[in-house]
Amino acid sequence: MDETACIAFDSAVEELRAREYPLLQGTTYLDHAGTTLYAKSLIERFSADMISNLYGNPHSASNASQLTTRRIEDIRLRLLSLFKADPQEFDVVFVANATAGIKLVMEAFRDQEHGFWYGYHRDAHTSLIGVREAAVEHRCFTSDVEVNDWIQQQDSEGQRDGLFAYPAQSNMNGRRLPLDWSNRLRNSKRTPVYTLLDAAALVSTSPLDLSNPEEAPDFTVLSLYKMFGFPDLGALIVRQASASIFDKRRYFGGGTVEMVVCLKEQWHAKKADSLHERLEDGTLPIHSIMALDSAMEVHRDLYSSLDQVSRHTAFLAKRLYEDLSSLRHSNGGKVCHIYKDSASTYGECSTQGPVIAFNLQNECGGWISNAEVEKLAAVKNFQLRTGGLCNPGGVASSLGLAPWEMRENFSAGQRCGNDNDIIRAKPTGMIRVSLGAMSTLKDVNSFVAFVREFFVHEAIAEITSPMTIPQQEPPTPSRLHVESLCVYPIKSCAGFSVSPGAAWEVRPEGLAWDREWCLVHQGTGAALSQKRYPKMALIRPSIDLDDGVLRINLVGALRETTSTHEVTVPLSADPRLFSNSDLYKESHARVCGDNVSAKTYKSSKLSSFFSQALGVACHLARFPAVSSGSGSTRHSKAHLQKYQKASSMQIPGAFPITAPLTPGACVSKPILLSNESPILTISRSSLNRLNELIKAEGGKAAQAEVFRANIVVAENPDYPPGLEDPYAEDDWRFLQIGQQYFEMLGACRRCQMVCIDQQTAEKNQEPFVTLSKTRRFDGRVYFGEHTCHLPLQDSSSPLVQNPTITVGDAVRTFRDEDAHQDNQLRALVS
Ligand SMILES: *Cc1c(COP(=O)(O)O)cnc(C)c1O
Repeated sequence: MDETACIAFDSAVEELRAREYPLLQGTTYLDHAGTTLYAKSLIERFSADMISNLYGNPHSASNASQLTTRRIEDIRLRLLSLFKADPQEFDVVFVANATAGIKLVMEAFRDQEHGFWYGYHRDAHTSLIGVREAAVEHRCFTSDVEVNDWIQQQDSEGQRDGLFAYPAQSNMNGRRLPLDWSNRLRNSKRTPVYTLLDAAALVSTSPLDLSNPEEAPDFTVLSLYKMFGFPDLGALIVRQASASIFDKRRYFGGGTVEMVVCLKEQWHAKKADSLHERLEDGTLPIHSIMALDSAMEVHRDLYSSLDQVSRHTAFLAKRLYEDLSSLRHSNGGKVCHIYKDSASTYGECSTQGPVIAFNLQNECGGWISNAEVEKLAAVKNFQLRTGGLCNPGGVASSLGLAPWEMRENFSAGQRCGNDNDIIRAKPTGMIRVSLGAMSTLKDVNSFVAFVREFFVHEAIAEITSPMTIPQQEPPTPSRLHVESLCVYPIKSCAGFSVSPGAAWEVRPEGLAWDREWCLVHQGTGAALSQKRYPKMALIRPSIDLDDGVLRINLVGALRETTSTHEVTVPLSADPRLFSNSDLYKESHARVCGDNVSAKTYKSSKLSSFFSQALGVACHLARFPAVSSGSGSTRHSKAHLQKYQKASSMQIPGAFPITAPLTPGACVSKPILLSNESPILTISRSSLNRLNELIKAEGGKAAQAEVFRANIVVAENPDYPPGLEDPYAEDDWRFLQIGQQYFEMLGACRRCQMVCIDQQTAEKNQEPFVTLSKTRRFDGRVYFGEHTCHLPLQDSSSPLVQNPTITVGDAVRTFRDEDAHQDNQLRALVS
């Protein structure tokens, strides 16, 4: 159909719309993939039918009953012919919706002698995915290529029957999948693998041709309301040649049996005539089926054929896709990030339906919350859909969400239709607009205008846009850089070094995953620490983001304590892993004297792993509490005073040092299980100085690890040597690391825990002895600086949505007096 013909058809639809769809006045309906809309004449025709005919329950013998039966038989035939399906070859089973059709097929397979193998495509609707729970084995195919390879392989799924299910069209982004898989599978060398085609989304705006039973899917499900807007009915179309799979179905309901004996004997005779008689349990939705007749009739009158609808909607979708993808912010940035499959083309009916899934980005590349889009859409009367779209595989792969992120987002309270939908600078859902038979160019244009009006940044009035941070480089090459980053996932156990080049997330409570777990004593509930259990240094956790797990290894002497050397727990806080607080009382772990409600893991395997390793009965626990308990947030210690001005002082017989702590305003920052503050920073120069002194006295140099710092700042190796500046950190007030800013909260008080060798768990005297000689003030020994992250202010920037730092990042330091020289910093602290 050429452009002129398309435009002519569009005007015809525009005209009939005024007449047939009065509900669309003043609104732009873009959720046809949810349901399309019914025409006024469909309802009129249906009510005339209802008013003038007497229909009885088809299970009786009355005239009224006979009339119903006759009509329903005709309607079955008519529905089959809509898909060019020969009634000799196919039967149609009426069901409540597509999901009910899927469940009927699932039940039949579940009742096979050996159960069944189930394969499904990544793009499957939630209702298809659920079938896997009834299968003995299942597999998710993550791409078309995987499916093709699998069809070509000669091996089989064993003696079990197989069922392969996929959507003819993705309900997420409207991509249309190959329809020849059924035929190719049937002709492959595999033991029988049946196909279940989910055509619910496809047939809403496309024909489906079942004229060749050899090539047709064994089972096809549809939602009739998605085609006609009314009635609320679904259908399962079964290829007769594959119907025997239902012979083993165990359940029978009213209407599906000839006779049932249930008192002394237990016996029943199933109906044998037709498949639909055996599968339609209970009274049919007779009035809905009658309405289907009116629906098909009116649809043909209005649109002539599904072919016509397909061409019309493809034309509109192409226009919408082109317009949305060409939108640009004044700085050239893209506005719509569209989730389109590379194999599909808008305007091409065989690969793409009239659905567009996308997210919006602001002019600095940050994501716009779908909740915000939804609110504006509601105000402006656009009906669209946002969120997870009932397509978990498609959404996760489009958004690049790893399973642990989905789970974590879930436990962070992210659900379909929730306000906090940007997590870790990634959207957790998308916006979907979908078109139907009665959509027009006017709908397309008004939606594009809506996006332009509210989400495209025009460069007019704002001359002094402050949004220049993303490209901003430190003015001169920095003297300092981040030498290493370390997190301590389990409090008091070994650290995990962040690999160079990995951008690590900074949260208000510290570096991501730092001190989220701890070991608690089974009797007292107190958190264990290295001070009492030095061997904790040999418990080595690591964060495996690819597998989404916290991996815990035993090293050194601890390897002899148990036969298991590694355990893992999911990074996502899956509530099922934790002790049920109804049965056990919620564990109130005590950390540094605070009561915190950490949740203990209930796995006895985990508990015995740690208990055997350390020789003390303990549980692994996680903070924050996974249930939505409030009041569990810890805050940094009140004794931690905001850093003021350091004053130099001299300790007899030692080097001049500064006294870093002077009383000032109290700070209160959220922390997890760390002792005092979100982040601990140490300086390599200071450590070198300390070690020089230790070695001068014949002592053993200290490793950086004993200080359990998160950030080690060192002189840039590109800088000429000899410029070390030990204990300069005493004067630091703020840091810029990469693009992020941090505030120094005060010096860190030390105890003898720094004397535990982190490789062997043995206790030394150093570095505490030398520290106490050189870094003591007012009876307290200091090394390292408490630090916290300062979130930038513009919450729409990706730097703010997902703040990260990386090993090797340049470090810029600010003393109080130079803080005002940096615009960004000045804005942060003013
Ligand atoms: C809508 C839809 C379903 C679910 O249909 P129901 O009628 O709600 O059961 C299944 N699959 C796809 C592709 C859909 O679009």
